Amino acid sequence: MSREQLVVQQARTAFLTGRSKPLDFRAQQLKNLKRFVTERQKEITDALKMDLNKSENGSKLYELLSLEGEVNLALSKLSEWASPRPVAKNLLTISDEVYIQPQPLGVVLIIGAWNYPIAVTLQPLVGAIAAGNAVVIKPSEICVHTAKVMELLALYLDPEMYPVVTGGVPETQELLKQRFDHIFYTGNSSVGKLVMEAAARHLTPVTLELGGKSPCYIDKDCDIKIACRRITWGKYVNCGQTCIAPDYILCEPSIQNRVVEEIRNCIKEFYTDDPKTFSDYGRIINQRHFKRIMALIGDSTVAIGGDNDESECYIGPTVLKDVTPESKVMQEEIFGPLLPIVPVNGLNEAIKFINEKEKPLVLYAFSSNNKVIKRLIAETSSGGFLANDCLVHFTIIDLPFGGVGNSGIGHYHGKHTFDQLSHLRSCLIKKLSMERVNQMRYPPHTREKLRWARILLLKQVNISRWRHLAQAAMLAALAAFLVQRFLR
Ligand code: NAD
Repeated sequence: MSREQLVVQQARTAFLTGRSKPLDFRAQQLKNLKRFVTERQKEITDALKMDLNKSENGSKLYELLSLEGEVNLALSKLSEWASPRPVAKNLLTISDEVYIQPQPLGVVLIIGAWNYPIAVTLQPLVGAIAAGNAVVIKPSEICVHTAKVMELLALYLDPEMYPVVTGGVPETQELLKQRFDHIFYTGNSSVGKLVMEAAARHLTPVTLELGGKSPCYIDKDCDIKIACRRITWGKYVNCGQTCIAPDYILCEPSIQNRVVEEIRNCIKEFYTDDPKTFSDYGRIINQRHFKRIMALIGDSTVAIGGDNDESECYIGPTVLKDVTPESKVMQEEIFGPLLPIVPVNGLNEAIKFINEKEKPLVLYAFSSNNKVIKRLIAETSSGGFLANDCLVHFTIIDLPFGGVGNSGIGHYHGKHTFDQLSHLRSCLIKKLSMERVNQMRYPPHTREKLRWARILLLKQVNISRWRHLAQAAMLAALAAFLVQRFLR
C-alpha cells in the first residue's frame, strides 16, 4: 500500500469515528490553525522569502491577513452556518418541518499552488474544517521551504484527520487515484483537466480554482494617473505571479503613450530606479518559468523594462506596447511581470476582443462613465468583475471567489467555502397524522383534486418556524379550511 493510499485511508477512518462533526471540535481545530499561523509566523515568512523573495510585511499582507480573516469569520459564524436553514414551504407542508441541513462531505483533498502557497492552501482548509470534513492537504512542491513549514501543521491539528502530504507530481497523481468526497484544486488549467478526469473515476465533485488571461480595459474617459497606479500595483505584486493580476491592457491608441508614461512613474515610485535590489520586488519562482516568460516577449516592442538576470530569476517590471492579438504574449496566461498593451478602437471592439477569448478569472475596467462599466458587466462574462481597481475584490469575504469556463469551476471564501464543502441535505419531516389531506394525490386523479393540488402546491409560503407566528397560524387555518372544503 502506498503512503498516499495509507494517509487517505487513515483520514477516512478518522472521519468515520464522527469526531470531526461536533462544532466544539471544529472550533478547536480552527483555533489551532490560528495558533499555527501566529506561532510559526517567522518560519512562514522566512520560507516565503526563500521561495519567492517575498518581504516579511508583504507575506503578512498578502498571505496571512486574509487567512486570519477567514479563521475569525468561521469561528464567529460556525454555529450559524452549520444550523438547519428553513426554506419556503407550500400550503401542503405548512405544518411540517422543512429545512436544509448542512453536513460534512467526508474526506476532502486540497491541492495548493505555489504563487501564494499559504493562502491558496490554507484558506480552503478553513472552510473544510468548519464544514466538519477530514482533509488531506497537498501543498505545492515548487515552494520547497513553505511546503516544509506546512508539515508542522501536524503539531497543531488532529494529524489523522488533517494529514499533510508533501511531494511532487507522482505523489499528487497517487493521491488522485484514491477516492475522495471532494477535490479542491488550485493551479493551472491543464492540470485542472487531469484533476477532473481523475475525480470523474469516482464521481467526485471538484472545485477548480484556475487562472487565465484577465483583461484590463482603460476607458479614455477616466483618471489615467490613478488607474495606472492601481494597475501597476496589481500587476507587479509578487512579480506578476498572481492569478488575478491584470494580464493585459486594452485601450484606445490615443491614450497608449500616456498609459506607458504613468506606469513608468509608478514603477519608479513603488520599486525605485533599481527594482532588482529593492526588498519588495519579488523573483520568478524558478528557471523554467523564467525562460517561459522571457520567451513570451518575442518580437513585441518593449516600452519599459525587459531587463533580466537568469541566475537570480529576476525580470524587471516590463510594459510591451502596440501588441497585436497574434503576438506570443497574447497566447497564454503570462503569470509574470510583463504587461502588454493591446490597442483597440473603443468599447465595442474591447468587448468583442474579450468575448472571443476564454472566459477570464476577472475582468478589470477603469472608467468614470457608469454606462461603460454596466455595459461591460452586461455584455461579457468572467469569474469576477472589478471596476476602477485591481485585486481588492479578493478581500471581500462575502463575494464568491472563483472562475467560470476555462478559469474555473466552483467558488470559495467565507461561507461560500463552507457551503462548497458541505452537502446541503434537503430534510422534510412530515407527521403521520393528517392523512386525509393526502386524498388529493391518491387515485383516481379527478379534475377537482387537480384544482386543489394547484392551490396547495403552488403557493409558496416563506416563513421560519419561530418568526411570523401569526402569519403561520393564519395560513394553517386557511390550509385547514381548504382541506375541509376539499374533503366535503
Ligand atoms: P503548481 O505547479 O504548484 O501545481 C499545483 C499543484 O498541482 C501542485 O500541488 C502539483 O503537485 C500538482 N500537479 C502539477 N502537475 C501535475 C500533474 N501532471 N498531475 C497531477 N498533479 C500535478 O502550480 P501552477 O499550476 O503552476 O500554478 C499556477 C497557476 O495557478 C496559474 O495558472 C494561476 O493563475 C493559477 N492560480 C489560480 C488561483 C485561483 O485562486 N484561481 C490561485 C493561484 C494560482
